[in-house]
Amino acid sequence: MPHDALPLDPAMLPRSAGSAIMRGIRGMCPRCGGTHLFARGLKPVERCRMCGQNWTLHAADDFPPYIAILLTGHLMAPVIILLGKAEWIPEWAMMLIVLALAASLIAAILRPAKGGVIAMQWWLGMQGFAGHSGKVEAGVA
Ligand SMILES: [Zn+2]
Repeated sequence: MPHDALPLDPAMLPRSAGSAIMRGIRGMCPRCGGTHLFARGLKPVERCRMCGQNWTLHAADDFPPYIAILLTGHLMAPVIILLGKAEWIPEWAMMLIVLALAASLIAAILRPAKGGVIAMQWWLGMQGFAGHSGKVEAGVA
């Protein structure tokens, strides 16, 4: 078993990278989908309570913030353009609105992005998951 993970009914394993990543985005264990991936905030659980997968092996590093900034920038661009056209809004108010929206979006996107990155690394056998990829375990490699 990969990294002392518990034996798992093959039907519980994700069938594709997309389904593993979607489990991670939803904050669920990418391997079994049965319980939470995160202990608190952005910190993943050490081991899944249901399948025993070790989630400390990931190395998501700064990829989740990169995704959050990229998406936030693209979502905020039309908002900033619209606010810029509204001449009745003072610049200081526009800055407050933009900062609050951008900070909220980044905060909302960061955890799903990290879950997706961890799931992708597990599926592909990257970083600490080397030699124990999800796709090999699921039999789709
Ligand atoms: Zn699990």
